[in-house]
Amino acid sequence: GAKIRRRNRRNPQYLDRGADVKFSDVAGLGNIRVELEEIVKFFTMAEVYQRRGVRVPSGILLCGPPGVGKTLLAKAVAGEAGVNFFSISASQFVEIYAGVGASRVRSLYEEARENAPSVVFIDELDAVGRKRGLVKGSGGQERDATLNQLLVCLDGFVSRGQVITIAATNRPDILDEALVRPGRFDRKIYIPKPSFTGRIEILKVHARKKPMADDVDYPVIANLTDGMVGAELANIIEIAALNMMRDGRSEITTDDLLQATQTEERGILERKRRSPEIWKQLALNEAAMAVAAANFPDLCSVEFITIAARAGKDLGYVRAKVNHMKFSEGMLRYFFTLAIFFFFFISNSDLLFSFMHTLGSQKNLLDYITVQIAPRAADEIWNGESQLSTIWAKPADNARSAARRLVLSGLCGKLNGIHNSWVEDNVNEIDLEALKILNNCYSRVKEILNRNRGLLEATVDQLVEKKNLSKQEFSDLVRKFGTLEPVPLDL
Ligand code: ADP
Repeated sequence: GAKIRRRNRRNPQYLDRGADVKFSDVAGLGNIRVELEEIVKFFTMAEVYQRRGVRVPSGILLCGPPGVGKTLLAKAVAGEAGVNFFSISASQFVEIYAGVGASRVRSLYEEARENAPSVVFIDELDAVGRKRGLVKGSGGQERDATLNQLLVCLDGFVSRGQVITIAATNRPDILDEALVRPGRFDRKIYIPKPSFTGRIEILKVHARKKPMADDVDYPVIANLTDGMVGAELANIIEIAALNMMRDGRSEITTDDLLQATQTEERGILERKRRSPEIWKQLALNEAAMAVAAANFPDLCSVEFITIAARAGKDLGYVRAKVNHMKFSEGMLRYFFTLAIFFFFFISNSDLLFSFMHTLGSQKNLLDYITVQIAPRAADEIWNGESQLSTIWAKPADNARSAARRLVLSGLCGKLNGIHNSWVEDNVNEIDLEALKILNNCYSRVKEILNRNRGLLEATVDQLVEKKNLSKQEFSDLVRKFGTLEPVPLDL
């Protein structure tokens, strides 16, 4: 035992000797950066804090979805402060054998203390820090022992200010209260998915060491990657670099990045032999969706259309950027009258809020349903009711669940749909109401498609020929052939 321990001391098991990460390697953070700079000061100005009697937090919680850069940030804090970085994933604490988890926590902190100042990084904290009692059976007991050990270790260093623990989780809400008590993980920093400008910055950070062409269009890629996180964006740059190598070129172009975005999102390109009819069928499916979407600029803008086959994905796809809610003046007035009404008669701010929230999106939801049902309508218009395929099954399903949501939120049909008992008693009625909404949207989209036959046919032809259509190419077609007039919906 003693021998092993001595070896461990010279050769710490949990020390990360990886690349020296700095804040400049982490992009798209906005204001969060200021909070992290403060953590660095806990180390670099430890004495000043101590002299003035300011307690330095022993734990900081980074909350956010996977891949947004929580680990990278923790490393950057250590890198900027010039201290050692120890890391472990809490899922490694959760062992079947009794006592293993707790002893791992102990040796992790022993190492960190021997090599102080240091940052201890615990990934997936929720694996061990779940509220006690949520896990039943002996596995639960073992986990409690680990959690208790962690609490002891966190408390042990409060006065020293030499070891700071940074933990990451996507579920701060399920953490045991004991963990988030003052003096432990009492500071939470939320790291959201990157915004449009954040995505541009992240792409540029990863492009720094790559031979990028001078005219690479980062905003185009940022528009196509709405909802993606830093890890995916970093991957896109790597895939694009491989693309360049494969073609024997020396610069990464916008087109490499476009292809890489598709690869990241939908898998690698496959050369498929398909009959002209099948290509046309696929193209009609996507073109219908895009043409319908072009009629609702408030809802979204079409960024990319493709029918190219990718690994495991046979169908095509339209990438649209969802726009933020916009209120017209008339809607705003209506909305305030209702808000005041509810304020006086219900005075329940929660209900008021949820109502306001759904009210704003009612129009958006109806437009969304109309767009999602478009492929089904196009199939009927072009191939006839008796020749229907099932290619549109997925979007039709989206439309169906959105219609149900509308009924259940009380915004369409019966307004008292917000009561649970009413929902249970009226399942059939809800379906009927939803069906009514679907039928209305269906006639509306048929009208839109019939009016835009020229645009639809041109889009299908171009798609069959090129397999991909950029935002620019599609909007050129819309300008040339489109008849975009709002089709009213009567509900
Ligand atoms: P998390 O810990 O939140 O799951 P990681 O820190 O492990 O995410 O991110 C994985 C990789 O993705 C990083 O090593 C980095 O290459 C890239 N990455 C993620 N977020 C960012 C960011 N904000 N800026 C730059 N690169 C990022």
